[in-house]
Amino acid sequence: MYSSFGHYWDGTWKKTSSREKIAVISPVTEKILGEVPSASEADTMDVIESSVSGINRWRSLSCLERSRILRQVAEVMLKRKDKIARYLSLELGKPLDQSLGEVVMAVEQFEWYSEEAKRVYGQVIESRQNDAKVLIQYEPVGVVAAFTSWNFPVILAARKIAPALAAGCPVILCPALEAPGSAMIFAQCLHDAKIPEGVINLIFGNPEIVSKVLMNEPRVRKISLTGSTRVGKILVEASAKTLKNTSMELGGHAPVIVFPDTDPESIAEQAAMVKFKHCGQVCASPSRFYIHETHAEKFTKKFVNVTKNFKLGDGMKSGIDIGPLATQKRLEEVELMVSQTLSSGARLRLGGKRPEGLKNGFFYEPTIFDQVPDHSPVMQQEPFGPIVPITTFKNFNEVIERANNLEYGLTSYVFTRSQRLAHRTADAIEAGMVAVNTFALASAETPYGGIKQSGFGREGGSQGINDYLNIKYINMVMEE
Ligand code: NAD
Repeated sequence: MYSSFGHYWDGTWKKTSSREKIAVISPVTEKILGEVPSASEADTMDVIESSVSGINRWRSLSCLERSRILRQVAEVMLKRKDKIARYLSLELGKPLDQSLGEVVMAVEQFEWYSEEAKRVYGQVIESRQNDAKVLIQYEPVGVVAAFTSWNFPVILAARKIAPALAAGCPVILCPALEAPGSAMIFAQCLHDAKIPEGVINLIFGNPEIVSKVLMNEPRVRKISLTGSTRVGKILVEASAKTLKNTSMELGGHAPVIVFPDTDPESIAEQAAMVKFKHCGQVCASPSRFYIHETHAEKFTKKFVNVTKNFKLGDGMKSGIDIGPLATQKRLEEVELMVSQTLSSGARLRLGGKRPEGLKNGFFYEPTIFDQVPDHSPVMQQEPFGPIVPITTFKNFNEVIERANNLEYGLTSYVFTRSQRLAHRTADAIEAGMVAVNTFALASAETPYGGIKQSGFGREGGSQGINDYLNIKYINMVMEE
């Protein structure tokens, strides 16, 4: 299925000049779904030329014309939402309703930024000279290279492409190799929405080859990564050579703080519904549970009881709550983390092994621990899997210190009925996003992103377009 698409530049699907192929493995059957032709250095140079040729083609359109094209993308995607969702579930194993949710969120990005394209407002500043005008205007940064993780291949790409296009920038999308079909079918929607030649480009390949060429190329002015903190550091370091503008959406390890003035069972129920979405492979997944000591047992029991009823299986089938982990590597990392958590002295309350009924696939049972010590690796490193570590706390200062004690600062969740405590906690937490009395955060109209080693830059909201704009200051003295 992959060879019918391939790579995309100059407005057409291309075959690569390299013979190297990358196998795509089904996480459900462990069999090869197909092979992706891997791009060579020469292909990457062709993609760069294509994107450079797209600069004027895209910039010469008015913001209204660009806005209309972005809206067309949303319409094409919406018509094909079921097909795109099937690709996502096939390649990643996640339940179809979750895949459909991802596509709808991506559509909303294009709807939102089709409007924002019309709202890039400059400024006129009162000059200190009578015969002068001071103007601030915004201009597109230029060619953007966008690298995305495999966990949400469509929405993560949409969060970069929609604001970049709205700002007037051509994009080279380098999606993860685990789910290339989802990215290809998405790129076909962009093509069918009549995005001009060179403005959208797609290339797959060994990231060390492709990204090396892109990072060394001065005409690629910006990079935007959604991925791990480890790769974020590699790309930021590499960007120094040509001083590229960078945006980094990196890993997280979200604390969940449940204060004593709450209903712990209701929160546990909500947490269980959210935690195992995409088998816990979500950057914003609630992943460290700090429950007030008076509530810990009630919370844990309810979490376990709700989770016990979840059905594991192939996300393409109906009635499935939890799919497999996406790759063999993820499965091995989850198994290692579970054994480390046990060795650290935590108590296993549910799961802790691969499911007996499923012979093939990278499945792992949803796993819940309580009494987890802070030094346990699961409290320090992003679990990115179906693992729930629960610990207790006694007071505000103590829990804030422990929640802030990591280098991650992406999301955080707070539960309290006290407005005063909600504000105090939201102010004290070191994170780019705080959800109070809810697990809902991501939307097209709000700025998504982290602080500390979870990255910088924002995606979504009126802020998101700024990552793709340069500020130009003009001090204009008017001659007689
Ligand atoms: P990853 O960092 O391994 O890979 C991310 C992307 O970078 C992929 O496209 C990959 O091909 C590319 N890449 C990998 N090595 C590279 C290299 N040496 N040079 C250039 N590019 C390279 O991450 P992953 O395993 O795909 O995704 C999981 C991580 O992504 C987790 O840490 C998760 O928290 C994070 N994530 C963050 C967000 C967010 O919005 N903050 C969203 C989703 C995922």
